[in-house]
Formats: sequence, structure tokens, C-alpha cells
Amino acid sequence: MLPLVKPYIGPRDEMMPAIEKILYSGYIAEGETVYKFEEEFGQFIGNSNVLAVQSGTAALHIALLLLNIGPGDEVISTPMTAEPTNTTIAITGAKIVWADVDPDTGLLDPQAVRKKISEKTKAIMLVHYAGMVCNMNEFNKISEETGIPVIEDTAHALGSKYKGKMLGSNSRFTCYSFQAIKQMTTIDGGAIAFGNPDDLVPARKLRWFGLDKRVSRLENDITRAGYKYGMNNVTAAIGSVQLAHSQEILDKYISNGKFYDEALKGIPGVTLIPYYANTEPSYWLYTMKVEDRAAFIKRMEESGILASSLHHRSDTHSVFASSKCDLPNMDEWYSKFVHIPCGWWVDEETRGKIVEAIKKGW
Ligand SMILES: *Cc1c(COP(=O)(O)O)cnc(C)c1O
Repeated sequence: MLPLVKPYIGPRDEMMPAIEKILYSGYIAEGETVYKFEEEFGQFIGNSNVLAVQSGTAALHIALLLLNIGPGDEVISTPMTAEPTNTTIAITGAKIVWADVDPDTGLLDPQAVRKKISEKTKAIMLVHYAGMVCNMNEFNKISEETGIPVIEDTAHALGSKYKGKMLGSNSRFTCYSFQAIKQMTTIDGGAIAFGNPDDLVPARKLRWFGLDKRVSRLENDITRAGYKYGMNNVTAAIGSVQLAHSQEILDKYISNGKFYDEALKGIPGVTLIPYYANTEPSYWLYTMKVEDRAAFIKRMEESGILASSLHHRSDTHSVFASSKCDLPNMDEWYSKFVHIPCGWWVDEETRGKIVEAIKKGW
């Protein structure tokens, strides 16, 4: 069965020596290899104010902590995401306030977000689901007008662009994941890119118990207890090799995505996703809407292709019961969206076969 997600691991003759060198170097904890990876990743996304962390979840948590979000506060978020976006908000003690999505894209609808803003709103959490980019023209306006900071969850969206530039310097916080199935994996890992360089030092402290690792331990004074959220040198060594191949891998996702955008036009029962002005998806998953999704998935399976909606809407979990509200556009979207394989392992012949299979109907 052709999978929907598959980890890309850089060439063995580059990866193994890089790992071996660090493993036996005598320094495997957070050190220069991590700082080098941060520099390289910063160059890649075009923002040098970057910290590497243990996971995308840690990145999100640090962003929320830096905004001092806690009990009594509200964070506007989307149910159309992987669970960590919202469990992370929940562990701060803040209330999640769901806003509805745009039924054409599954991404948060700026007008719906505006309606949910109250004096308790401390952040807007945006998820560039499946690599599609939110309506940033509108969200930037909302953030400027209200002063409410935006956290971008870019776990699905490495390489996605806004105004021709990779995501990562648009909002106060942009949070990446390098978990196993993301476009670039370091096995586990993550990064935060900062819109405001003043957040760097406090974030670095929260990453390591409250201590600044770049200052001698004797001169350190913990003013706020932090976490153990750092990246280690072994992970960073893997990251550097992965990053060197990332553009080439991302280009494969993007080439396949653009191919589907053209080849699937006008097929009865298929509705393609319109992308917002000034945005370019990186197609972590190819996303579309189909009529009679169960039959579609079954027919694809018979052709050896995994099609799935992959994610479970967050607002139905018991832990978020107190945030429950009507989200009619989400209901509509959730009944129809589906993903088909689009990643680096899908070659030109295979993507052609997928389109033929869809054209046959279901
Ligand atoms: C994977 C993911 C995360 C969390 O990343 P980890 O690195 O697994 O902690 C957060 N948000 C979304 C949307 C994700 O898909």
C-alpha cells in the first residue's frame, strides 16, 4: 500500500559518519552541534532568531509560557490539527476557544476568529494544516489591530511560503516539529523562530530549567523555573544532514502537489482547495474534498493507495469538553476532506496512476 507519510532519512554515507563523530566525541549533550544546526536552520527559513528544542510540542509550550498564558486566559485555536496544538494550550491552564474554519480550506476563518476575541484572549494559535497556509493577510491585520500575538504551528508547513518567503518570520512565534513523519525529521525535535529577538534569552532559559546555558553556571540565577526541552548534539548532527537535503525533498512534495492541483481539476466528486492570496503550500499531505469519502477511500485502497483523513478533530476530546461550541463549517469540512499520497516517495509514474484511479470514479 502506498503510504501517506514516510520518513526521509539522508544518505547513509553522510548520516552514519555524522552520527558516529558526535556519539564518540565525548560531548553528546546540547553544545556546538546544536548551535550550528540552529544557525543552518535559521538560514534555511530566513530568520536567524531560532532555538532548537526537543519537539514541536516543547516549541509550542515555550511560546505559550513566554506570553505568560495560564488559568483565566483564553487562546483562540482550531480543532483541525494534530492533538499537541491544543493539549499544549490545555496544560497551561488557559481555556481553548474554538473558532470555526473556512469550509473551503479547513483553515481558521479570520472572521470567525474576530468574533471570538474577548478581553481574556492572550493569543491566536494558527495551524498551517497539511502545509496549506492560513489567510495571513487577514490574520496579520487582526494581530496589528488588536495587539494579540499569533503563534504559528508550522509542524506541517516547513517550506510553505507567505509573500514569497518561507514561514518563520511573520509572527511573534513560529513553531516547527521534526518528529518522525514531518517533512524534515530529526527522529524527534523541533524549533522556535522568533519575530521579536527579545524573546530569545527567556526562551533559552525556559528550555533548560531556567538556566542560561551560554552563561557560566555560577553566574546563573534562576528567576523562573524552566523545563528540560533542549535538543542534544546527536539529534542536531542528524538535523544538519537532514537539512542539507530538505530543499530537494520539499521540492518533490511541492512538484507532486502542483501536479495534482492541475490534474485533478474538473473531476466529478472532487473539490480542490483554493489557496489564499500570497500563500504557497508545501503539500505535506495533499488535501482535497470528496463526495462519499468512505467509498473513495475504499476504492483507493483497492488500487493500493492509502487515502485517509488522518487527523481527528480536537474539539471532540473529553478533555476539551468545556470549550464545546457549534462549528458548522468545521462539520461540513470534516465530513469531506481527505488526503492522498504526495511526498518524496511518490514518483511521476505513481502520481499519474493515482490520478487515473481517481478519474475512474468510486
Ligand atoms: C507533530 C505536530 C505537533 C507536535 O510536534 P512533536 O514534534 O511531535 O511534539 C504539533 N502540531 C502539529 C499540527 C503536529 O502535526
